[in-house]
Amino acid sequence: MGVVLLAAVGAAAWFRQELVPVWALAQPTIEPLWQHLRTPSQWPNWVAYLVSIPSVLAVLFLGWRYLQYRKSSRRLFKQLSYLGSVWRWNSPADLPMALKPYCPNCNALLVYEELGGRAGNQSQSVALHCEACQTIPTEQPGTWKYLQARAAREIERLIRTGEWRQHVPGH
Ligand SMILES: [Zn+2]
Repeated sequence: MGVVLLAAVGAAAWFRQELVPVWALAQPTIEPLWQHLRTPSQWPNWVAYLVSIPSVLAVLFLGWRYLQYRKSSRRLFKQLSYLGSVWRWNSPADLPMALKPYCPNCNALLVYEELGGRAGNQSQSVALHCEACQTIPTEQPGTWKYLQARAAREIERLIRTGEWRQHVPGH
């Protein structure tokens, strides 16, 4: 700690010594420049319009481009890892019906199987199978429709709160 402090003090002293001649050299240049920058200009109106209208247009154009960029980047949010599987969809408007689950290991489309629920009070569950890896990446209570709607609710929440950005690399 003491060494660091000493080094910091030494560096500050060195900078002070080094910067004094630099400042002495720069001062005659900086002061007239500052004076010049502070002086108001008398422009004919046409020059003022010529300069200010393109500036306003440039700002509007950049704002529009930014909005377009934000809109298009949200279209990149088309997949989500949720409850063990990877869910994909084409447009948020088609949810939940357009949601399809994929295997996190081999990317195959998963097959759903609903278990139980037929014999009285036996609890119902749904399993998503991968035919290629012979695994069950997702097993949840409820039916397939319920699971699909649950994933759609999560996607809707991520879009509403803006958290979808964390699921799209680079946004
Ligand atoms: Zn698989």
